[in-house]
Amino acid sequence: MQGESRVRAQVVVVGGGPVGMLIAAELAGYGVDTVLLESRADVSEQPKATTLHARAVQTLARRGHLPGQGYPYTEGPVESPFHFAGLPGLTITAPAREPEPILKCPQAELERHFEARARAAGARILREHQVREVVQDDHGVRVTTDGPQGGTVCFAEYVVGADGARSTVRDQAGIASDTHPATVSALMGAVTLAKPDELPKGWHRTERGWIVAKLDAEGRTHIRTLNCDGAHPDRQLPPTLEELRREVSWIAGRDITMDAPRWLSRFSDFARLARTFRAGRVFLVGDAAHVHFPIGGQGLSTGVLDALNLGWKLALTVHGSAGAGLLDTYDLERRPVARRVIDQTQAQLALMRPGPELDALRRVFTGVLSADREHGYLGGLISAQDTVLPGHTEGSRRATGTFLRNAVLSTATGETDVIGLLRDGRPLLLLLGEESSGHQEEAREWEGDLYVVRARPTPEVPHNALLVRPDGYISWASGESCDLTDALSAYFVKSVVPKSTVPEGTVSVEHP
Ligand SMILES: Cc1cc2nc3c(=O)[nH]c(=O)nc-3n(C[C@H](O)[C@H](O)[C@H](O)COP(=O)(O)OP(=O)(O)OC[C@H]3O[C@@H](n4cnc5c(N)ncnc54)[C@H](O)[C@@H]3O)c2cc1C
Repeated sequence: MQGESRVRAQVVVVGGGPVGMLIAAELAGYGVDTVLLESRADVSEQPKATTLHARAVQTLARRGHLPGQGYPYTEGPVESPFHFAGLPGLTITAPAREPEPILKCPQAELERHFEARARAAGARILREHQVREVVQDDHGVRVTTDGPQGGTVCFAEYVVGADGARSTVRDQAGIASDTHPATVSALMGAVTLAKPDELPKGWHRTERGWIVAKLDAEGRTHIRTLNCDGAHPDRQLPPTLEELRREVSWIAGRDITMDAPRWLSRFSDFARLARTFRAGRVFLVGDAAHVHFPIGGQGLSTGVLDALNLGWKLALTVHGSAGAGLLDTYDLERRPVARRVIDQTQAQLALMRPGPELDALRRVFTGVLSADREHGYLGGLISAQDTVLPGHTEGSRRATGTFLRNAVLSTATGETDVIGLLRDGRPLLLLLGEESSGHQEEAREWEGDLYVVRARPTPEVPHNALLVRPDGYISWASGESCDLTDALSAYFVKSVVPKSTVPEGTVSVEHP
């Protein structure tokens, strides 16, 4: 075909929003030959996410992707005030030696940061490439795109669909979804108010819905509305200034005049959860896998954690070091988390419904939020710091399946910490004290894939030995039921076995 070019890669990422750019940076950082296909020419400046929550922030720090925050992190635990369903009083706490629990950063800025990291690590970013077809067989995947110079056909071992809520990859891979229809309508936009005092910044609840107003540095007011009277008949219809003005005035119960609109958009509580995050050689991450009402700033945080869960697993797989079931753990670990996020945002929206019948429940919840400060149940839920890997019981005394908090470690070459060690990117075998020597011997056959570090015992890490994944979760702890060799076999092939390099010819899906 005239003008058609061919590209080969180990992994093709479709979609260069924040999640796609992040996983491209991860993969390329691991030396995976990565191509990213993005339909847009530039980063979208449409205001969207501004908040990243604690577990996403902590995991980004471990992988070295966190923008603009250096060491040392906080000496003691840090609390950040947040809200639940627009009710103030929620506290999100990060443990000592971790970054602050909430990172405020506009989505476009984060996207640029991840793109720069992906490019610096060697990923090939092809903008203005709209993917239209994805076909896989046992040997590889063929991705067909329309680009500025005509069609491009990419052949890869694996494809990651990071192409947002209306994912072409999800459709092409035949992945079905469970959906929840929209029941509310919401608008957002930045405007200049004729009389700024008429709509002070903050969250306003009335008998008809909500208005959230924020001022930007240029004096514009960023407005979000929530109308609980029902879904808009056409979710794709672009809103107008007149519609926003009418909606704000109706919810507020008085005329509010505005002008100079920017970034008008419409959203809703439509929710989707893909029934699987993996179909053969195709994976879904971010909004392609899950969407929900954007309350509490969790969509992007969940997508970031998808990318940081899948990246190292896919890298080990293409380098021939992954255990047989490793890639399947992505869906097992991430889909239940996304399910909980959807449930929890629906619960928040239920509490936000206007009308006096909700008043008492909201008062009760205000008390719950204040009492929860000690226990941190809701803070753990929103910030994803309560995530325990499936197969391991939350609340038990076991370490396996939980996230290893940062701790200062004293090694023969000086002081370091968990965050610093995980930046290496390899699974970490942490040996603390003399009694752990036997574990190093047990791990001998996997040593090529592990970062083995000996450190002085410390009360902050009450174990002789730990196996820690690159995303910070403990996959084995000494003294717990499973043997180290069993844990290692589940995650990795032994590095004494020659690793298969995948020759170009093994990708056998051909263009018709
Ligand atoms: C009003 C609002 C506020 C929000 N606030 C927050 C918040 O504070 N915190 C938070 O965590 N989340 C928030 N979110 C959610 C967050 O914006 C999304 O979860 C996030 O954008 C998901 O990123 P993504 O990379 O998965 O998808 P997207 O950002 O949608 O990126 C997908 C990319 O794929 C590209 N693409 C699509 N189809 C193709 C194709 N066929 N070929 C090539 N490229 C393609 C698109 O151009 C796009 O660049 C908010 C959302 C909204 C609507």
